[in-house]
Amino acid sequence: MKKIEINTPITIFENIDELPADDLYLLTSAKEATYKSYAPYSNFNVGCAILLDNGEIISGANQENAAYPACICAERVALSAISCIHPNAIPIKMAIVAINQNKENTAPAAPCGECRQAIYEWEKRHNHPIEIFMRGETGEIYKVDSVAELLPLAFKKDDLI
Ligand SMILES: [Zn+2]
Repeated sequence: MKKIEINTPITIFENIDELPADDLYLLTSAKEATYKSYAPYSNFNVGCAILLDNGEIISGANQENAAYPACICAERVALSAISCIHPNAIPIKMAIVAINQNKENTAPAAPCGECRQAIYEWEKRHNHPIEIFMRGETGEIYKVDSVAELLPLAFKKDDLI
């Protein structure tokens, strides 16, 4: 028997002033996308902005439903939009911002497990990592170089062969 340890390297920016201008623009786009959120049940507004290799930014916001399983997260809204609008584009960077209408949210908005799996599929599909920036309404910004950092031992296409 043996044990292994899996580490998650995270770059932390204490505030937006530390971000390069392009990354700040992407993060701002994610925050603006929270206004497109439909979240009457959770009051948790999530925005996601994705920079593509063609320079375009596509955004999405969470869309809730009285039948909860029909809800869709901001990240998968944005990824689905890319498939329709720029089907051959490669996602390079993603920013996620979450605002809680019930209290100030300072926790970085990490994607849920289902979205981690969806983002992982995009990385594998294009063989390109996606940098992910995460932030609450305020507070520190977390960045990982790839969703693989957030989803160790991911389930992948090779597992099906
Ligand atoms: Zn999600």
